[in-house]
Amino acid sequence: MTSRTDVLRELNLLPVWQLRRSRRTDVSDDISTDVDARRSRIAALKFDALIEDIGGCTACPLCKTRRMTVPGVGDLRAQWMFVGEAPGADEDAQGEPFVGAAGQLLDNMLAALGLARAENVYIANVLKCRPPNNRTPEPGEALACAPYLDRQIELIAPRLIVALGRSAACRLLATDAPVSSLRNRVHRYRGTPLIVTYHPAYLLRTPADKAKAWEDLLFARRTLGDTAA
Ligand code: URA
Repeated sequence: MTSRTDVLRELNLLPVWQLRRSRRTDVSDDISTDVDARRSRIAALKFDALIEDIGGCTACPLCKTRRMTVPGVGDLRAQWMFVGEAPGADEDAQGEPFVGAAGQLLDNMLAALGLARAENVYIANVLKCRPPNNRTPEPGEALACAPYLDRQIELIAPRLIVALGRSAACRLLATDAPVSSLRNRVHRYRGTPLIVTYHPAYLLRTPADKAKAWEDLLFARRTLGDTAA
């Protein structure tokens, strides 16, 4: 019986067919090689170079609408690291995370724990650029920004991470679960203890849950105490 390959060879189409197929494979290989190369490059950056790299990032379309990149703020040797979702309008204008109304609440929460953003605390977001109209980050945006947050966490090496809201929890724990089901447990991000609580912007809309967020922070403090070096 004549095979498909025999027919293609007879018609003189075999090399063409093979060429197109291998070209397609080359394109997807190129894309994943580029993504891997970018990730490896970012994973080797020191802190200043990392911030500079974020400032010039064009890895997702948010670079076209941002005013400023918002890498993070705080103590580079902090034991506590708080991770939010993405810059809003105030953060986009000032280049610093959590400077709007939600930030005011976060500062109050830190103060209640005896902490301040510049002292033993580092604050960052899943995204370094503002999504238009403060919409929730899209998976592709979180993925494009992931090497930056991963490297920040690696360099700061906090003793504890607090994920503020669902975007941070989903990004760092690779889960889709709601915040309510992730609270009251010590998770791990690459070995570092991680606690999930509500996002301050959610707490501004739902003040009744502020008491739960306070419980989460006390739990976080106990957890940090338990893991004292
Ligand atoms: N909300 C966030 O998640 N991050 C900010 O920086 C500001 C508001």
